[in-house]
Amino acid sequence: MEALHKKIREEGIVLSDQVLKVDAFLNHQIDPALMQLIGNEFATLFADSGITKIVTIEASGIAPAIMTGLKLGVPVIFARKHQSLTLTENLLSATVYSFTKQVESTVAISPRHLTSSDRVLIIDDFLANGRASQALISIIKQAGASVAGLGIVIEKSFQGGRAELDAQGYRVESLARVKSLEGGVVTFLD
Ligand code: 5GP
Repeated sequence: MEALHKKIREEGIVLSDQVLKVDAFLNHQIDPALMQLIGNEFATLFADSGITKIVTIEASGIAPAIMTGLKLGVPVIFARKHQSLTLTENLLSATVYSFTKQVESTVAISPRHLTSSDRVLIIDDFLANGRASQALISIIKQAGASVAGLGIVIEKSFQGGRAELDAQGYRVESLARVKSLEGGVVTFLD
């Protein structure tokens, strides 16, 4: 997606060979027009997949997920990282090791919002080693729902997440595929 590639080239900051900072438009300050383009692109890619719900993980997946849900006309659920007093029912949950924070945490979704009749599109900001995606897949399976595919804003193709999802047979659509961050330079796969 050219507009996203351009934004990453111009405003992304390479923190190391492994980490790309995009807090100017995705992870802290958010560019709504770019999010709308991203949402439209995911909606087009998955238009014929029978999606009934979008699932993401708080906080950075929410903006692209909302725009996709708006275009597809389906609700968006974000898995919560912190237990809330208002979440009282038995939750669907999974543990996830955070790539950026390097801590393990539990993410959860209420079974009231996800049922066996749902066909789910997972949306997330980054795909690195795939821990967040695998946790969401586990939660969706616990609900008895099916996974239609994953829409990723930025995939770091040099890490293992994409290969694992491919091997499991999931459809993964990434709008920017980063081949390398070496030498402080972002190189794209295509
Ligand atoms: P994974 O679970 O696939 O290893 O990592 C994906 C999650 O870690 C994403 O939800 C994202 O929040 C975070 N993440 C992974 N790599 C990066 C990165 O290079 N930059 C930023 N800003 N977040 C990342």
